[in-house]
Amino acid sequence: MHNRGRVIVVGAGPVGAVAALAAARRGFAVTLVERNAEVEFDAAPRAATFHPSTLEILDGLAIMPDFLSVGLVCRYFDFWDRPGHALVARMDHDVLRDVTQFPYVVQTEQHKLVRIALERLRKLPDVEILLGWQVDSISQDETGVTVRAANGTAERHITGSWLLGCDGGRSTVRKQLDIEFEGYTWPERFAVLTTRFDFAAAMGCSERSYFADPDQWVNLFKVAGDDLRGRWRVVFAAPADSSDEEVLSDASAKECLAGLHPDAGLGDLVHRNLYNVHQRVAKRFRAGRVFLAGDAAHVNNPIGGLGLNCGIHDAMELVGTLEQAGDDAGAPLLDRYERRRRTVNIEFVQQQTVDNKQRLEEKDPAKRRERLDALRAIADDETRQLAFLRRTSLLDGVQRAQAID
Ligand SMILES: Cc1cc2nc3c(=O)[nH]c(=O)nc-3n(C[C@H](O)[C@H](O)[C@H](O)COP(=O)(O)OP(=O)(O)OC[C@H]3O[C@@H](n4cnc5c(N)ncnc54)[C@H](O)[C@@H]3O)c2cc1C
Repeated sequence: MHNRGRVIVVGAGPVGAVAALAAARRGFAVTLVERNAEVEFDAAPRAATFHPSTLEILDGLAIMPDFLSVGLVCRYFDFWDRPGHALVARMDHDVLRDVTQFPYVVQTEQHKLVRIALERLRKLPDVEILLGWQVDSISQDETGVTVRAANGTAERHITGSWLLGCDGGRSTVRKQLDIEFEGYTWPERFAVLTTRFDFAAAMGCSERSYFADPDQWVNLFKVAGDDLRGRWRVVFAAPADSSDEEVLSDASAKECLAGLHPDAGLGDLVHRNLYNVHQRVAKRFRAGRVFLAGDAAHVNNPIGGLGLNCGIHDAMELVGTLEQAGDDAGAPLLDRYERRRRTVNIEFVQQQTVDNKQRLEEKDPAKRRERLDALRAIADDETRQLAFLRRTSLLDGVQRAQAID
């Protein structure tokens, strides 16, 4: 018998799906509302790197074996000097072996995490999953919060004790609360080419490799693919003044792939995508009984693979906070959620992702050399590498959040 009240989760992306699962496992009744009826199968290339701090969370939710079965375990990641065709630094997550049970990242498509979480949720009591339903308005008073959801033919009003807005960067929940999304949008868009060409075999690079280049930096990483045979994503910045057609054209794709390896051609290409990139943080993460988590609360460029990881950390902090608060919307600890998660996003995720981008695109030759030398020095010293990886894998971020009252 549940006595914690109902949590309404808007959005079954990875953050909402994990939040719903965590809430249901802790005894909340849960209604999960998602506008995309196919959310478990959404294969658009997005987040793919799950850091040790997040793997600890998935383990706590008892889904690690399932998750590992659909992903790649990656111990190393590289920084390369692209014009010089040279490996600058190889980082080894194994230096984290005394700090975490998971001294590696798992690389896989984010929709697989959604699928695993929803499969688990369907087996838990008092869980309602509404796929194909869009939330378009919310209201709240001292006793609860109500959303209106529609599926094209019908509408429903759902009332709960708490509402978790996990509805992504364009969050309806955030807009309904009139919360400003502070920050900026980068002038350049990011392009993603997905290919079956095996860069590790051809170049000896790790399954996550960052290529610094003042003219065209590249992120290269391998994901499992639905067939588990592996495929590679090539991410690069598209010039701000080029059209979508130009960036996604065969000529442009061919040039980019061949620039990485002469044998990488159009024949292996399976997907092309182009998207806008932002650095933004919501001014508030809470309004009464309503909270923001994941991309609804913060967005950043994907270099370093931190956004989704941070969102999953939000989800766990939020559910833990609600569990402690009981049904008291006046509980002072509710504001601690914002103090912790907003601070950590700014200090760790926004700071690192901007720095990661600048490191790859640095044009000044002296500064460029200095940055690459700094990476070399880190890789050559296990103590410094440990400190570096604690930060890049958000293990330090988790500790910092827990220290905030
Ligand atoms: C190319 C790319 C690569 C990336 N790589 C990484 C990476 O390696 N590591 C990393 O950590 N992050 C990465 N990110 C960022 C990551 O994809 C996002 O941080 C992540 O998707 C956020 O998850 P979310 O659940 O908060 O939001 P979303 O995944 O956007 O999910 C929101 C959900 O809410 C639903 N929804 C929206 N509005 C409504 C509504 N009104 N009613 C009902 N449902 C609604 C949507 O349909 C969607 O399913 C990358 C992003 C991109 C674009």
